[in-house]
Formats: sequence, C-alpha cells, structure tokens
Amino acid sequence: MLLRTLAWMFSTDLAVDLGTANTLVYVRGEGVVINEPSVVAISQKDHSLLAVGHEAKAMLGRAPGSIQVLRPLRHGVIADFDTTEQMLKYFITTVHRRRRLVHPRIVLTVPTGITQVEKRAVRASAQQAGAREVFLVEQAMAAAIGAGLPIQEPGGHMVVDIGGGTTEVAILSLAGIVYSKSVRLAGDEMDEAIIQHLRRTYSLLIGERQAEEVKIALGSAYPEGGEDQKRDVKGRDLIAGYPKTVVVTGAEVREALRDPVMAVVNAVQACLELAPPELAADIVDKGIVLTGGGALLRGLDRLLHEQTDLSITVSDDPLACVAHGAGSLLDQLGLLRRIAIRA
Ligand code: ADP
Ligand code: MG
Repeated sequence: MLLRTLAWMFSTDLAVDLGTANTLVYVRGEGVVINEPSVVAISQKDHSLLAVGHEAKAMLGRAPGSIQVLRPLRHGVIADFDTTEQMLKYFITTVHRRRRLVHPRIVLTVPTGITQVEKRAVRASAQQAGAREVFLVEQAMAAAIGAGLPIQEPGGHMVVDIGGGTTEVAILSLAGIVYSKSVRLAGDEMDEAIIQHLRRTYSLLIGERQAEEVKIALGSAYPEGGEDQKRDVKGRDLIAGYPKTVVVTGAEVREALRDPVMAVVNAVQACLELAPPELAADIVDKGIVLTGGGALLRGLDRLLHEQTDLSITVSDDPLACVAHGAGSLLDQLGLLRRIAIRA
C-alpha cells in the first residue's frame, strides 16, 4: 500500500485529449506539453510513419501519391484504427522519451458516442504505449471539469464542446452525464461550407487547410461589426484550370457558415427540450458553457443566447479545456475512479 502510494506520488502520469482535430497531452505537475493536430503522414510504400502533428498537417493537400496524409479520427469515430493507434503511441512515447516515465497512469478522453470496440482499442493502444493503468473519461465530463464547473454537486450543468468532427452537448449532475447528444457537425463542416461557397460563387477550388484559415480570419455566427473585413483567397479556377485570387468578405463567410452553425444551435435546443424539468430549471439559472475550438467562432455565444434565451459563457482557453479537465483528474484519484468508463 505504502509502495503504491509512493509510486503514485512520484510517477509522472498523463492525460491525453484525443480530439478529431487536435491531440493534447498533459503531464501531471507540468500541464499541457503536446498540442498538435491529429494528422498523420504515412508512406504508401512500407506504411511507415513519416510525420505526425503540425508537420503532417502542413502536408495536407500537398503530398505526392507516395505519401498518404490522414486524419484518423476525422468524423469523431475512429475511422482508421491502426493509424489512430500509431499516432497515440507516437505522442505518448514522445513524452516518455523526454522524461523517462515509469509506466504512467493515463487518462484518455474519448467522444461520448464511441463504440465498445473502439473503447477497447484505444485502451489497448495506450497500454501498448506503456501505460500501467488506463482510465477512459468522456470528453464532455472532462470539458466540464476543465471549465471549472462543480460537477459533483446536484444540479444540472450544460456543456457544449464544439470540436473539429463532432459537437457534444451534455447535461451533467452529481459527477455523471444525465443526458448527452453528439452530432457530427462541427468545425470541419464549417470549413466544408466555405469550400462549397467559393466553388459555387466563384468557381474557385481551395483546400481544407485554407478554408480553415478563412474561417478563423473572417468567420462569424452573428453580425457584430467587422463586416467589411476582407481577405484574398487563392485557389484554382475550376473552369480555366489556372490559379486565381478572389476577395472574400466577412459577411459572405457568415452567410456560408449559416447551415453548420444552425445545426449546432439545433443540437443544443434538442438537448434542452429533453432535459428533465429540474435540471432544465438549473440550466436556466446557470446557463451554458461552450468549449472546444468551435467556441471561438465570433458571435456564436451571442447567437446561442438569442436562440435559447440562456446565458452563454465561453470557457477560458476552449481548445485546451478538455486536456486541463482530464489533467486535473490525475490529482483527484477518487473522482477519477468514480467517473472513468469501466473496462
Ligand atoms: P477536437 O477536440 O475535435 O480535436 P478542437 O476543440 O481542437 O477539436 O477544435 C478544433 C476546431 O476548432 C477546428 O475545426 C478549428 O478550425 C476550430 N477553430 C479553432 N480556432 C477557431 C476560431 N478562432 N474560430 C473558429 N473556429 C476555430
Ligand atoms: Mg475536443
């Protein structure tokens, strides 16, 4: 017992937010040490790993046929099993090598909607990467903890995590998820909507990385100033085939984003309608917390407030909220054991 307690005090445990767009690794006592896109480049010849993270993302849409650039978690489900495992191992062993961890405990956050088979597989990959003990925690739970909500108290809290591949809406009370809904409509769909808009309006073809840049620079969900912001977007003319530049405005991008943004709003409304009355009353008092990179879309809080009449708060550092929540569980072993998904 004493030995175990000592091992616990001195071991460097990890929390991993395995996101559809970004993977973050939190080291106990240090904070977030890895924050990289969930992208992997693989050699077609021998299936070896060529690059992971930022380096691999820079290759998206630019790689020759001999290199495959993949986002293994793209739609919120683990679409590509082997690659997810390779990526997870790569990140964990990177941290390992830097610090000589002795078989750490690993908290791994997973989308609420993943299947038993997927859960078993991510657990197995973390074990193979050297974990002594693996705890799977639902993303929405980690997001709520990261946002500082008192999840152990009775009383409903609502979190909406808008990531790359999925939007997860959850109502929590007494350290459990009372109701949740996961829709496969989030940041990626917004990028796709921008691609479609430019194609239809200007016959301009652009890649997903560039669409994301346009979204971050000009995108919004609500008209609130900065309307005449403009940006040059370069791509290929679909008809003539040569490269061309088009000037795109903020108002136009907001219009293009309307469908995916309204899908997020609808998911929130659907969840509110299904909440048990006591909890719905709590949410009226406490409002909704937004986390995930999509929460940074300008004016989304304002639009949600207008549509639901509830107060909306964007968490601090929404892109790292899940990692911070999962990381803080490393110091709350009792709570961690209570909320972790059973093997
Ligand atoms: P995941 O947890 O699925 O990996 P993240 O929480 O890391 O997702 O969020 C990534 C998404 O957030 C991407 O679609 C990205 O384009 C989007 N995003 C990041 N910053 C902004 C921003 N300032 N405005 C709008 N969307 C953003
Ligand atoms: Mg996430």
